[in-house]
Amino acid sequence: MHQQDWVIDLRSDTLTQPTREMKEAMMMASLGDDVFGEDPTVRQLEGKLAGIFGMEAGLFCPSGTMSNQIAIRLHTRPQTELICHKDSHIYLYEGGGIMSNSHASVKLLDGEAGKIQAEAIREAINPDDDHVPETALVSLENTMNKGGGSVYFLDEIRPIRQLCKETGLKLHLDGARLFNALIHSGERAHDWGKMCDTISLCLSKGLGCPVGSVLLGSHADIKKARKIRKALGGGMRQAGMLAAAGIYALDHHVARLEDDHERARVVGEILGKIPNVTEVLPVLTNIVIVRLEKVSPESFLEQLAEKNIRAVKFGKDRIRMVTHLDLEDRHLEALEERLSRWKAKF
Ligand SMILES: *Cc1c(COP(=O)(O)O)cnc(C)c1O
Repeated sequence: MHQQDWVIDLRSDTLTQPTREMKEAMMMASLGDDVFGEDPTVRQLEGKLAGIFGMEAGLFCPSGTMSNQIAIRLHTRPQTELICHKDSHIYLYEGGGIMSNSHASVKLLDGEAGKIQAEAIREAINPDDDHVPETALVSLENTMNKGGGSVYFLDEIRPIRQLCKETGLKLHLDGARLFNALIHSGERAHDWGKMCDTISLCLSKGLGCPVGSVLLGSHADIKKARKIRKALGGGMRQAGMLAAAGIYALDHHVARLEDDHERARVVGEILGKIPNVTEVLPVLTNIVIVRLEKVSPESFLEQLAEKNIRAVKFGKDRIRMVTHLDLEDRHLEALEERLSRWKAKF
């Protein structure tokens, strides 16, 4: 194939294909009926991740949306409220599930790089008053997708944890890309496990699995979470084939996230040279968000597509590119080549 012909697909880290070795691990997995609690590979994955974060138990779920929604259902009751950033995945991209699954209200906060801080949360907690819903939960996202893959550090979480303790709120972490955050910060998974009541982790993003997320929490919470998963239709039978991919990824695909981060920095540099790109959000992990001027995202994406480069619109004047397991240095060289001397049409 001619170099210009292959597609450079930067739309998402969910697009990756399982590697041959991952497929072999899936083929070899011991299986059982996980609704009966009898799939040894699912149990192994749940136990392994719980161990990594020093939490008591885990629950394998079909998607990150489901594991987040289960956590929200677990920590709220109808007529209570959760607090999150206005750009949170749980609010923007989960089909309104907070409302339909949990009948809960949402208080949206603003904050730099998609992050909210303890002081703003404190002010957002409702008083004990008949007029207002009772605040029940704080939900954070790390890395923060819409914040450009921004990272929360433990020093930011500690005061939030303390506040939740004082006020009786639960703390959930949407850690779809938490491993990316830990690779960036160098912080220990165990320390994060101590901070949160529940953590949702995605296996099908940077870790490169075809399907799957895991919710971590206490024994008591995960027992309840199993029941909620069943009611949402998420009880899976011989799911060990999918869990085996997760175990393989935890052993082989975590440290290499650093490569994705390095490549994302290069993507940011390449995009920064395009005249219509006015701002590249700081690139800390595997997500690159740029702001455009004098060209709409739609038109810009179309012109990229003509060069066999794919990205997604991410707001009225923004596009997003994500690096991942199926992206190699040769793709970056091609990206630079295809975008050099290129001027977007207005
Ligand atoms: C991808 C993602 C999820 C979960 O998405 P699914 O496609 O349902 O697995 C949750 N939160 C964030 C921040 C994500 O990027």
